[in-house]
Amino acid sequence: MKDTTVILDNGHGCDTPGKRSPDGRHLEWQWCRRAVRAIGDALGSRGVTVEVLVPESRDVPLRERTERVRKIVGRSAGDCILVSVHNNAAGDGSEWLGARGWSAFVAPNASARSRMLARMMYDEACRAGMKGNRATPPDGCWVASLAICRDTPCPAVLTENLFQDNRDDVAVLGSVGGFEALVDIHVNGILNFINAARS
Ligand SMILES: [Zn+2]
Repeated sequence: MKDTTVILDNGHGCDTPGKRSPDGRHLEWQWCRRAVRAIGDALGSRGVTVEVLVPESRDVPLRERTERVRKIVGRSAGDCILVSVHNNAAGDGSEWLGARGWSAFVAPNASARSRMLARMMYDEACRAGMKGNRATPPDGCWVASLAICRDTPCPAVLTENLFQDNRDDVAVLGSVGGFEALVDIHVNGILNFINAARS
């Protein structure tokens, strides 16, 4: 059985405008880098090979990110999957809004395996009580033409970890228990996917 390499992408960079809570306390680039480190450490301790796509603090353009993914997939002897970690927003960040919850996105050209990976993380989000207050599409994932999923040659899912313009969600994002639960959604969903592929 071939090993799976998990490629973890963290959204944006310290130089990206916006992408924060209306009060400026929550910064998406920073939260996502912290989450990716924790997800990577947890998977690594279970023997999974992890590649952090953007170790830099600065924003790396999507074209370079997708090129990095292609290189990792090209030199990997086994399978690769990609998970890009983000926070959602209902508005432009100027005001607190009502939408809450966790969601997974795949590209319109997503493979069945991409959808399966999204579904497995979504099931974990439901189990963790992170579903939020919006109606989710029946198969558990949203579809959007996101370059990091669309232009990469492996199963790819973008996760939106709660809304950074909702007060209650930002409180969860900033709490120890909330952070750990969101990390676990990724770790458990990814491990379930790898184990299902092996069986
Ligand atoms: Zn984002």
